[in-house]
Amino acid sequence: MKKIKDNCFNEFDPNAMSVEGALDNILKSINNIKTSEYVDLKKAYGRILSKNVKSRINVPNYKNSAMDGYAINVESFNENDKTYECIGESFAGNPFLKSVKKNQAIKVMTGGMIPSGCNAVVMKELVTKTGSFINTGSTIIEDQNIRFPGEDIKKNTIVLKAGKEIDEIDIGILASLGISKVPVKKKPIIGFISTGNELVSIKKPIKMSQVYDSNRYLLHGLLLKYPVEIKDYGVVKDKMITIEKKFVEASSDCDVLITTGGVSVGDADYVKDVLEKVGKVNFWKIAVKPGRPLAYGKINKCIFFGLPGNPVSVVVTFNLFVNAALNKLLGKSNDHPLSLEAELLTDIKKRKGRKEYKRGILISKKSKLYVRKSGSQGSNILSSVKDANCYIELSENMREVCKGTKVKVLPFTLKSEYYE
Ligand code: AMP
Ligand code: MG
Repeated sequence: MKKIKDNCFNEFDPNAMSVEGALDNILKSINNIKTSEYVDLKKAYGRILSKNVKSRINVPNYKNSAMDGYAINVESFNENDKTYECIGESFAGNPFLKSVKKNQAIKVMTGGMIPSGCNAVVMKELVTKTGSFINTGSTIIEDQNIRFPGEDIKKNTIVLKAGKEIDEIDIGILASLGISKVPVKKKPIIGFISTGNELVSIKKPIKMSQVYDSNRYLLHGLLLKYPVEIKDYGVVKDKMITIEKKFVEASSDCDVLITTGGVSVGDADYVKDVLEKVGKVNFWKIAVKPGRPLAYGKINKCIFFGLPGNPVSVVVTFNLFVNAALNKLLGKSNDHPLSLEAELLTDIKKRKGRKEYKRGILISKKSKLYVRKSGSQGSNILSSVKDANCYIELSENMREVCKGTKVKVLPFTLKSEYYE
């Protein structure tokens, strides 16, 4: 097939879509998966809830003590005589079930049920004991040191909403409600293919002019963070018919197919042409750096991303576009990345025309945020991503950005070890 002439090498490309336009197009073209399944609580980690979870019980489900101490009734409290007779014990899991008179006390442990007739707990440390009698010392207020039913979670309330990605706290909450099986979205199948004649498998010796197929492992790693099934379709050579066959085969098995490489305007770049032939191209170029050539579309029902070949472009376009697509597909809610403002510590070169995502190092010093570039910014320099903890987002219209300018920063995570 004859290659289409293209002006991909200018910063301004009239055919390139804005990042926002591309995201809008992607999100509009994807519906979330309807199928769900029940999984064991421990296996629910990282999965997306498919239904709201309602509490069937109160947590806690009985009135209990917040302290080790003595349960008493405040009505019988007398400033002149603060003594109570201790007539029993209430341990967590082993309550005192008889009734308690107003001038009597029950020794209670944290979590122990408050016996009927008692309405306050005095801390053990504040009490003086003489034989079976205690003296409460200070004044006592009704309900002090008592935990009430439903104080944490009320019965019949929605505790977790559909679309929530289940984390360790959610697992703890679900367990506190006695829920052992959790309704989650079924895992969609995400396949990936590397394209390129130069690619060699990592176990083989490498010759001059060859490249280890690192994207395959990079993509696998990126996908591990999602509740999806991953399918590795290996490498295809830069040959139209081979690519076509592979696309047809893989797209019939997968919900999403991701390729890397072969999507630009080079003489060995066939991905977009094949997508056009066997499916539909929604858009092909985005005004973004790195990652301008990116073929997005569908092959029948399979969502298709033809990502660029350079590893940094793979990471950036995955984070920007594939992430949005997977979250939409999974019906995941609340996925707005945190953005911060930080002061630039170095000048950054930029030309107008594309939104740029530089790899940066965000630093917190005396409660102020600063950011600098993390090494060389070439789209082949994966080590600059390794050293980074954020993207510095520079809008399309910005030119060179000078030291001291406030810029938008998108942190990868908020782990404290990243802060100097
Ligand atoms: P392409 O988009 O196919 O022209 O590739 C752009 C650059 O990315 C070239 O230098 C390729 O060698 C490199 N590249 C493409 N695919 C991979 C891969 N799977 N692993 C590592 N580098 C790759
Ligand atoms: Mg290639």
